Amino acid sequence: MRWQGGRQSSNVDDRRGVSGGQVAVGGGIIGVIALVLNFLLGGEVDTSQLPQLPGSGQTSSQPLSPEQAAADDERGQFVKTVLAYTEDVWNDVFQRSGQNYPEPTLVLFRDAVQSGCGNASAASGPFYCPADQKLYIDLSFYNDLQNRFGAPGDFAMAYVVAHEVGHHIQTLMGTSEKMARMRGQVSQEEYNAYSVKMELQADFLAGVWAHYMKGKSINGQPVLEEGDFEEALNAANAIGDDRLTKGRVSPESFTHGTSAQRMYWFKKGYQTGDINQGDTFNAQELN
Ligand SMILES: [Zn+2]
Repeated sequence: MRWQGGRQSSNVDDRRGVSGGQVAVGGGIIGVIALVLNFLLGGEVDTSQLPQLPGSGQTSSQPLSPEQAAADDERGQFVKTVLAYTEDVWNDVFQRSGQNYPEPTLVLFRDAVQSGCGNASAASGPFYCPADQKLYIDLSFYNDLQNRFGAPGDFAMAYVVAHEVGHHIQTLMGTSEKMARMRGQVSQEEYNAYSVKMELQADFLAGVWAHYMKGKSINGQPVLEEGDFEEALNAANAIGDDRLTKGRVSPESFTHGTSAQRMYWFKKGYQTGDINQGDTFNAQELN
């Protein structure tokens, strides 16, 4: 993916300089507000909103070496550029249907963070919080994708960002709220089934975004490069529930969908670019 020299989003709250713990102690007011918010939301952190990744990465708070800091900085710039690409595409798509696209904020953090959905660590992996409409990313996930999940490549990471932005679209459409209302009203198994549909729709929306990236260029060169689509597809394959749990868990407890399903919906979005084809909730088959 070509990205250097591209616009970087300004909707970024960079908290990499402060650890989560420091924020909790030092940022008294912010801490209190977060607590109040949690209370209003039911008094507990809805960790089911956060992806659970097995064998989570180390959460050391050691300072980065100069090389690590340089790599981290470049990844930060990359993710900001991807976010800008998503803004360009979704602004267009929304405008075409006569609507405004309220852009989400990206929070970059290291190790731990406080969100409107509760406290999270890097081990949660990237997530989107509907309560504050922010994406939370610890850039160490970039390494995890490559080393733990076997999904290298910048477009693999771009797909992850686009998936979280997909959850933002779902929030704007009211789907996230419907999901939240369903919690407690249906059995855990049923809720998991809805969660899968929700996640697959976010994959579909990531695919729709990638579809529109086909027409974009930087300095006269196409943004998408040979192999980008495959990198994203490989990432979708790598983080399917069946792959991650290696058969140790029954399909009823899947919350994100199988590898095949995740690839299917990403690909469908990529090929059609048609937001109306992504109704995973009413689809006969999730494939
Ligand atoms: Zn998700």
